[in-house]
Amino acid sequence: MAAGGRMFLVANWKMNMTRDRIETYLDALERERLSSMLSGTRHQIALAPTHVYLQDLSREVLRRGLPVKIFAQDVSSRSEGAFTGEVSVRNVLDVGAVGSILGHSERRRYFQETDADVARKTSLCLQAGAIPLVCFGESREERDAGETLRVLRHQVAPIVEVVTKAFRENENIPVYLAYEPVWAIGSGKNASCSDIEEVISTVLEGFSWPVPPCILYGGSVNLENISSLAALENLAGLLVGSAWLDPETFLDSVRALS
Ligand code: PGA
Repeated sequence: MAAGGRMFLVANWKMNMTRDRIETYLDALERERLSSMLSGTRHQIALAPTHVYLQDLSREVLRRGLPVKIFAQDVSSRSEGAFTGEVSVRNVLDVGAVGSILGHSERRRYFQETDADVARKTSLCLQAGAIPLVCFGESREERDAGETLRVLRHQVAPIVEVVTKAFRENENIPVYLAYEPVWAIGSGKNASCSDIEEVISTVLEGFSWPVPPCILYGGSVNLENISSLAALENLAGLLVGSAWLDPETFLDSVRALS
């Protein structure tokens, strides 16, 4: 857990939710009094729905007084203009999101996003005042070939560059990264604590960051492993998919960390 005991807990709903399910989810958070559950902690919660639900979700969270931030799952690599079908960082901010997940491995893998695309999106977020949560991680083949740290450095280097540039204009920029090994996502196999620690120190110490990023972990986080993962020094939070599609598991996880 990062200094101060604060964890940033992000539920990545991917393309799974519907309006009904979102309502049931918020009902559970309200009924179980998420606010009082969090009151003795410094944890922060974010929910990441698909773009179409951002506005309703932001309004509902506000109306119900839930201590929850809203994140998009992606934004366009273009800032504005004639780009049919794209959703800009300004659009997501406009409807209540405060940041966006970027460069998730599913986007890199199925939609051919490159490190350069992810860097461009990161830069657009920083310019617009949105919090970037940039995912990086190696595939099973890369890990088996002993290439993990080389691949991760390659993914992170362009992010350091845009952060350094943005920092010259604004020294208060928040930067979040999420180490998400591709083989751990949705597989039931999480990275080991020592692997995560090695990656965190490689990323923190291997680059000259103008401001140290907060590093989260994601990949098969569940009720069994959450406490040991959260105990990791220097780990700033968790990015969770499958397990947090269920509001009860999400609430049990928050309880486990309280
Ligand atoms: P998972 O997904 O928790 O289902 O492994 C994490 C993610 O893809 O962000």
